[in-house]
Amino acid sequence: MSFSHRERTITHRPPTVQVPGGIMHRRIRTLVTGGAGFVGSHLVDVLMARGDEVIVIDNYFTGRKENVAHHLDNPMFELIRHDVVQPILLEQFVLLDSCCYKTNVIGTLNMLGLAKRINARFLITSTSEVYGDPLEHPQKEPYWGHVNPIGVRSCYDEGKRTAETLTMDYSRNEGVEVRIARIFNTYGPRMCLDDGRVVSNFVSQAFRKQPMTIYGDGKQTRSFQYVSDLVEGLMALMEGEHIGPFNLGNPGEFTMLELAQVVKETIDPNATIEFKKNTADDPQKRKPDISKAKVLLNWEPKIQLRDGLPRMALDFKNRIFKEIEDDLDK
Ligand code: NAD
Ligand code: UDP
Repeated sequence: MSFSHRERTITHRPPTVQVPGGIMHRRIRTLVTGGAGFVGSHLVDVLMARGDEVIVIDNYFTGRKENVAHHLDNPMFELIRHDVVQPILLEQFVLLDSCCYKTNVIGTLNMLGLAKRINARFLITSTSEVYGDPLEHPQKEPYWGHVNPIGVRSCYDEGKRTAETLTMDYSRNEGVEVRIARIFNTYGPRMCLDDGRVVSNFVSQAFRKQPMTIYGDGKQTRSFQYVSDLVEGLMALMEGEHIGPFNLGNPGEFTMLELAQVVKETIDPNATIEFKKNTADDPQKRKPDISKAKVLLNWEPKIQLRDGLPRMALDFKNRIFKEIEDDLDK
C-alpha cells in the first residue's frame, strides 16, 4: 500500500501581455507540489514543453531531485526544497503570497490558501482510495465509498477525502477555482523503486531476482494506468471548465496474479512468486468508470499494461543496475 503520494498543482495566470506581431500571449506560471515525484515530474515535463514557467515544491520524501534534474539549467524552472505542511511565502509568486495525513490535510490547506491569495486555479490529485473497499463495481464518481475511518489505510484514504472536502469548501466559500482528479493506480518510469506499490515491487523484484510478493491470494484486482495517459487527463482537466471529481484511470482490470504473469512475460520468464499475508482493509476490486471523463474532458487512456510495462521496465532496469554497480564499488 502506498502512503507516499501527494502532489497538487496550482496554476497562476499572470495578466495577458502584448507580444510582437500583436498576438496576445499568456505565459502560465504553475506551481507543482510533489513535482519531484513520479507523476509530478512527468507533469512538469509536459508543462515545461508547452512553455510554462514551473515552480516545484518538494521535500524529497519519496521524490528525487534526479527526476527533474534535466530542467535545472532552464531559467523557466525553479525547484524549492520545502515541506508543504509548513506555510510558504513565495515572493516571486507575488503573494507573499511524515505524515501523509498532515500532508493531505495541512498541505492542501496551505496550498488552497496560496491559490486564494494569488487567484490561481487549484488541482487536487485525489485518489481512487476515496472509494475504499468499494461495494459498487466499477466505481463511478457519485459513489460515496466504503472506507474504514480507523484502519491502517485511513490516513491516506481519509486524508484525501478531507482534501477533497477542503477543496470544495474553498470553491464554494472562498471563490477558488478548483479541479478534482481521482487517480487510479498509475505506473511508469521514475516511480519510487521501493515505496511498496505493487507494480514497482514486482518489477524491482523481478530485476533483483527476488520472488514477486503477492499479498493474500492475489485475486484482488486493480486497474493500471500508464503515466502519460494520466498526465494528458490532468492537463485536460486543468484546461477544461469542469470541477469534477473525475476518475482518471485505465479500465483494464487485472488480478495481482495476472499482473505477476505480465511482469514475468515482460522481464524474466523465470521469475517466481511468493505469497505473503495481506494488510487489513485491502480493497478487493477496483476499476474506474471513466464515462464522465470521456464525455466532458474528451479523454481516455491509450496505453495498455502490456505496452506500458516494458517502458517502465527499461527505466527500472537502469536504476537497479546502477544501484548494484554502486554497491559493488563500495
Ligand atoms: P510520489 O510519492 O512519487 O510523489 C509525491 C511527491 O510529493 C514526492 O516527490 C514527495 O517527495 C513529495 N512530498 C510528499 N510529502 C510532501 C510534503 N509534505 N511537502 C512537499 N513535498 C512532499 O507519488 P505519485 O505517485 O507521483 O503521486 C502523485 C499524486 O497523485 C499524489 O497526490 C498521489 O496521492 C496521487 N495519486 C497517485 C496514484 C498513483 O498510482 N501513482 C494513485 C492515486 C493518487
Ligand atoms: N500488493 C501485492 N504485493 C506487493 C504490493 C502490493 O500483492 O508487493 C497488492 C496489495 O495488497 C493490493 C494491490 O497489490 O491489493 C495494490 O497495492 P498498491 O499498494 O500498489 O496500491 P493500492 O492498494 O493503494 O491500490
